[in-house]
Amino acid sequence: MHFPGEMAHAAGALPVILQENHDPITVGHGMIFPFYCGYTRSVVDQACKGDYDFLDAIMFGDHCVQVLGAADVVRSRLPNTRVHFYQLISSMSDPWSLGRARETFLNLKEGLEEMIGHPIEDEAIRDSIRLFNKNRKMLRQLYEMRRAGKVRLTAKQMQLAVKSSMVMDKAKHNETLEALIAALEAESSTAQKGVRVYLSGHFCQAPKVELLDMIEDCGAVVVDDDLYHGQRFIATDVREDGDPLDALAEWYLARNLKVPCPTRVDQNADWENYLIDAMDRSNADGMIVLMAKFCEPHMFYYPEIKEAFERRGVPHLLIETEHELTALEGLKTRVETFLEVTKRQTRARSAAA
Ligand code: SF4
Repeated sequence: MHFPGEMAHAAGALPVILQENHDPITVGHGMIFPFYCGYTRSVVDQACKGDYDFLDAIMFGDHCVQVLGAADVVRSRLPNTRVHFYQLISSMSDPWSLGRARETFLNLKEGLEEMIGHPIEDEAIRDSIRLFNKNRKMLRQLYEMRRAGKVRLTAKQMQLAVKSSMVMDKAKHNETLEALIAALEAESSTAQKGVRVYLSGHFCQAPKVELLDMIEDCGAVVVDDDLYHGQRFIATDVREDGDPLDALAEWYLARNLKVPCPTRVDQNADWENYLIDAMDRSNADGMIVLMAKFCEPHMFYYPEIKEAFERRGVPHLLIETEHELTALEGLKTRVETFLEVTKRQTRARSAAA
């Protein structure tokens, strides 16, 4: 979740972020605890079924206990594939944090150099940084257009735009985005009507598109998010000049200030206040929190968000999701009720203003 794809790209590789897939977990079921999150269980299941045989190497970055467990199983199941695990410092605001992050990225660079058999030049890393920055900038532009009501993009479409960037060749993705933005700018679109909703949560795995469609079918207009398959992935750029390892280490620490992550500890970042400000910026009426079942970092942090939102009277709804698709019918009633309550509160606030 916190890895710089730029480095692998500069090595001439095609970096692909491993995704949860939709298949039922079968072979992997006996390899990892059933109380691990859907993402780690799915990754292990895919490794056991041979779905990763096309990969030359898998690089895990440490961000929670469950990913650590999954990496161990993947390593044992794929003896012919390089499986590396890199420790990323989780304490982000200590005097040594920047240096430790740089050390990790240097290890990553050395691991890649060993694999490809030659050094990775600084200029190659800077070229990749420029390419990736351009990609993030265009994806943010799509977000801004949607936030401003200039285009109609569903939550599913936004997810596909970001998710495809995680697995596609970046130059090709940039070309596709350029064409998409030009086409959207040529269209005239009026702002969609409905309850403006901010989506928060879901780290390593993308929320199921059926769930996103259901939320919008109930009358929500998703205007912004901090999802990993969303703003979290694209919010922070890397400095394009100077030492690229310094720049990537700075990016790693800055990401957590841009969009705070509960897997990291930072005295200067505060997720609940970030969310309240982000909702104001996007003029959202309410927030839906999507929490992957058994995602410990999220479970530990959520009470602080709940308290802060209740204190401020900001409507929000928690939905716990599972790899095995959650029964949507039961959830639909909860979403409809939440949207109705939010709509009434928004009306009451406007009348009082
Ligand atoms: S952060 Fe959450 S979703 Fe990601 S691997 Fe850890 S438990 Fe799973």
